[in-house]
Amino acid sequence: MGNKINKIDETAEPIKELKQKGVCPFCKELVAPEVVEKNRVGRDRCVCPNCKESVYLCRTPSCHDYAKWTESYDHQFCPACWDTIKKYGILAGTTLGTIVANLLQSWAVSKISETGTGKKR
Ligand SMILES: [Zn+2]
Ligand SMILES: [Zn+2]
Repeated sequence: MGNKINKIDETAEPIKELKQKGVCPFCKELVAPEVVEKNRVGRDRCVCPNCKESVYLCRTPSCHDYAKWTESYDHQFCPACWDTIKKYGILAGTTLGTIVANLLQSWAVSKISETGTGKKR
């Protein structure tokens, strides 16, 4: 009864948690960054032991490299993965993007003509 199990031994030295080895986006070295900020959603902030820049694990599930730590959403992938994404993204953007844009436009035009000419009977 009343057993407090949430007591944390604060005298214990924090254990340095190292991530798996991956390529740092800043110094391009294969490093095992140190976790400096635990993140609930698994986006642990890490520091490269070589260049001391903040990095975090690339979002690509099969990728073990690191992404640059920025507030921008675009940088959730390591430079290599981001390159691939950009490449495919541009391809998808030209084909799919055009189709979607055309669809939206024709839909918008039909909506405008519908409301513009008033209710049809
Ligand atoms: Zn580095
Ligand atoms: Zn990656």
